[in-house]
Amino acid sequence: TELANLGIRNLSPYQAGKPIEEVERELGIKNIVKLASNENPLGLSPRVKEALTATLAGLARYPDANGFYLKAKIAEKFGVRANQITLGNGSNDVLELLARTFVSDEHEVIYSQHAFVVYPLVTQALGAKGIAVPAKDYGHDLDAMLAAITPRTRMIFIANPNNPTGTFLTSEQLAAFIAKVPENVLVVLDEAYYEYVPESQRAPSIDWVQRYPNLVVSRTFSKAYGLAGLRAGFMVTHPDLADLMNRVRQPFNMNSLSLRAAEVALDDIAYLNESVAVNDAGMAQLVAFCEKHELPYIPSYGNFLTIEVGSDAAGLYQKLLQHGVIVRPVAGYELPRHLRVSIGLKHENQAFIDAMEAIL
Ligand code: PMP
Repeated sequence: TELANLGIRNLSPYQAGKPIEEVERELGIKNIVKLASNENPLGLSPRVKEALTATLAGLARYPDANGFYLKAKIAEKFGVRANQITLGNGSNDVLELLARTFVSDEHEVIYSQHAFVVYPLVTQALGAKGIAVPAKDYGHDLDAMLAAITPRTRMIFIANPNNPTGTFLTSEQLAAFIAKVPENVLVVLDEAYYEYVPESQRAPSIDWVQRYPNLVVSRTFSKAYGLAGLRAGFMVTHPDLADLMNRVRQPFNMNSLSLRAAEVALDDIAYLNESVAVNDAGMAQLVAFCEKHELPYIPSYGNFLTIEVGSDAAGLYQKLLQHGVIVRPVAGYELPRHLRVSIGLKHENQAFIDAMEAIL
């Protein structure tokens, strides 16, 4: 063990669930409802499916290492230049690549309490010091995060909306924050759930990258675009940052299927709109359930709702499992009284509600 740095030795592995088929076999239940990983409940879009089938013939060849067509499509959609884009095997991969490129063991990295698990993970793996700033109303306390900056700070992670709390910072709050961060500190705006935010409230974050060379915006195809299993994400930065990341990047960090699927998904507006509509309806369904039973919940801008269920959240998680519903315990995020429920299709949300009503 001494061969690994102290940060790595102190890590615990990402808590992934068992394959759903295994859970079904163990419990002797068919048709388990999984509302645990903030996935898109619609399944793959037909247009993407068709494009994937057409891509199969070329799979004996290496993928396009530069992702030429996907970058061109992202550039067109988001009004940036291709040399500002970095692609990855999910946004996790690009977040890690960013940290590997810019952070080393003499640095500090700031994130919020209840922040997405990958931030402390990549920070610690590099031997850097993670500074978890106490949350305010479950969300980012931006003033406290500014106050935590020291000469050693190299990076600040902000997830907006945040996972697992679903909290949201307004454009005004974010703009004021970014303007106050010193230029030698990278602000990483992780917008994995961006598409679920009502259009009128979305920050023009990618446009801000032109103004703030230390601002980095990451997005994913795993949520509203429905490609979680394919692994596709991207980051928009100043071209100089993209150039440095490109030197560190593994050449084939996206595969031919994920490249093509992401390209097609960006044009599949009907699927995207339906994803958001299904999410809005499902969110209303779960919120109505919470209100009916006076269960406190954290108002969410994502595709999940984090509900305060009390001191025996772990026991409730197990009971829900017995009823064939998998949700996500969030004790590891310092939320031991909560469970996070991903928004599913109407009947899946209802299965959760029915199980809860049977248990409570
Ligand atoms: N950021 C946040 C805040 C997330 O919740 C997730 C997914 N759980 C990701 C990034 C990474 O998603 P992916 O690697 O699938 O793009």
